[in-house]
Amino acid sequence: MQAKARAGSDRSLTQRLGRAFIAVAVLIIATLLVTGACFAAFLGHFEPSVNALISGRDGVNEVQNGMLDEESGLRGYLDGGDQAFLAPYYAGQTEILAGDNASISLATRTDLVDEIITMRVAQQRWLSEWAAPALSIERAVTGLTQRDSFLLTGKALFDGYRAASDDLTADVNSDIAGEQTAEHNVVLVALAVSFGMLVFTIVVARRQHRALRASIVTPINDLLTTMQKVSSGDLSARPAGVGPPELREVADELGRMTLTLVEERSRMVGLEAEARSQARRLGLIVNVGREISGSLSLRYVAEAVAKAALTISGFGAARMWIINADRHELNVVHDTELDHGQTSLDVSLQLGEGLVGRAGQFGRMLATLRTGSLATEYRAGTRIAALAVPMIVGARIVGVLELTSADPAALDESSVDVMHSLAGQAATAIEAARFHQSADELSHTDALTHLPNRRRLELDLDLEVARSLRYNRPIACIMLDVDHFKMVNDVHGHQAGDEILSEFGDAFSGSLRETDTAYRYGGEEFCVLLRETDAAAAAVVAERLREGIATRFAGHRGSATVTASLGVAAIPSDAIDAKTLVAAADRALYAAKAAGRNCVVRAAPMRTVRSGGTRGRARPAAGPPLPIVVKDIPAAS
Ligand code: GH3
Ligand code: MG
Ligand code: MG
Repeated sequence: MQAKARAGSDRSLTQRLGRAFIAVAVLIIATLLVTGACFAAFLGHFEPSVNALISGRDGVNEVQNGMLDEESGLRGYLDGGDQAFLAPYYAGQTEILAGDNASISLATRTDLVDEIITMRVAQQRWLSEWAAPALSIERAVTGLTQRDSFLLTGKALFDGYRAASDDLTADVNSDIAGEQTAEHNVVLVALAVSFGMLVFTIVVARRQHRALRASIVTPINDLLTTMQKVSSGDLSARPAGVGPPELREVADELGRMTLTLVEERSRMVGLEAEARSQARRLGLIVNVGREISGSLSLRYVAEAVAKAALTISGFGAARMWIINADRHELNVVHDTELDHGQTSLDVSLQLGEGLVGRAGQFGRMLATLRTGSLATEYRAGTRIAALAVPMIVGARIVGVLELTSADPAALDESSVDVMHSLAGQAATAIEAARFHQSADELSHTDALTHLPNRRRLELDLDLEVARSLRYNRPIACIMLDVDHFKMVNDVHGHQAGDEILSEFGDAFSGSLRETDTAYRYGGEEFCVLLRETDAAAAAVVAERLREGIATRFAGHRGSATVTASLGVAAIPSDAIDAKTLVAAADRALYAAKAAGRNCVVRAAPMRTVRSGGTRGRARPAAGPPLPIVVKDIPAAS
């Protein structure tokens, strides 16, 4: 039963329509056939049969009438003896002939055979036994008694005939009535059957109509509802997939279409998210570009680029390496991990060494795969532990941006592009910062001695003194002036004087700590800034310097001995700020000159003065400093 139902539901719409059409057509044809058969029976059987019976009956009647005419003619003739009385007789003959012909149609009726034979026999007996003798009977020899007897015989024969004829007529009538009744019955049955089939056809057509409607309208409504849901944005709506195969195919197609829409929508959402993220990254790049293009600080540029690189890539740490082409090495200028104290900025790599060294040497983006092996070219989507992006300006590699991640990550294509463009911007900004740095260095460097110049000193002094005051740490200053340098020039010439001055750079670097800086203050005067150093320690350094110079230039160029006088001052003992510190050192220098040159003089310590009711504060000693001669060697004459 279920299989049948399934087979029914699997029937295609065309099949269903075909079957419905065939069912109705068969029923209509059957109805027409039944009606046609009835008509055929009516026209082919009942009508001719009844007609034949009526015609036969009429023939029998006509024969009877003919015989009556013959009888009356013969009787007249027998009564009157005149041939003229035989006229009805002859007319009767014609009628009998015609009646016989007409009644032949009864011959086919087997049920009437006996009656017909009886009637024929009676007729024949009347003809042969009475009518024929009546024509030949002689009136002369015929007496009255004989004639009456003859007439009586004739009458008896005729009555016999008439009785047989009436029987036949009655049977024929009965047959006619029977045929007509049968005819009516057939017509009634035909009508009833036709009507019944018509009703059945209507019922079947109605059932087919209902079935078709159920198999078409319901699925179409389902499809329509699904389409309305989908078009109103509910992409989870799916058709039930019921009904004939054609509509199920439409439902399947609609389902696939909706699925495609879902996929398309999620793709669009993905693309939109991708575009948003790309726009965000590009916005970041633009901002970083704006920020770093306005900065000439290498460190600031490096920090901004490293931060942006982490945001774009999603990696955990970034390092900015700058190439020092002269030393063939790379140095870290910024490390995002530095805050956590995990690495130090004092890191360098040789070009060609490791991932970063190779990227710096070959100018290609390189990666360390999560397996630890080196990928000579980074492909988007590969999961990597480290990535080295070279920063290139024109054909020059200025540095490498190194990204690392504890959890191997992958960059998509657009992120790789963004990283490239970030590295490009960084390279330009770094190059500009380095140019600025070297220009700055040049403008703050003395060309003859290669020492920082007075402008640099003033900047550094402000900075260092401010720091010293903030942290309450000592800082010292040594002022140095070459003794009798005018004479050196005069005796040995200015070029020789220049050479001597240029050697002072080396003389300082040999005697100073890394935290101390020597500056060319101007002419043959130098200044040394000693961080975290008090006056006493600075005096020791000054003495070492003095001694070094005296030794280095003893008998220089064969004749000249070059010495120098030095004045030492420090904060907080001798001065309160940069200005008073230099002034105190300068005064000490003059004191050294006054003391005979080639010696070191410490500035006079400050006196504490009180003014008004306020608490006293340290003030630099006014007037010439009290010379403290550290070492006094008579100046060379
Ligand atoms: P002292 O300081 O001992 O009193 O004697 P001094 O001869 O050094 O005197 P002063 O400081 O007045 O003279 C400085 C001289 O140094 C003047 C100048 O000829 C010379 N001088 C200054 N700058 C240079 C320079 O760059 N090259 C050379 N060759 N000489 C210079
Ligand atoms: Mg001088
Ligand atoms: Mg001098």
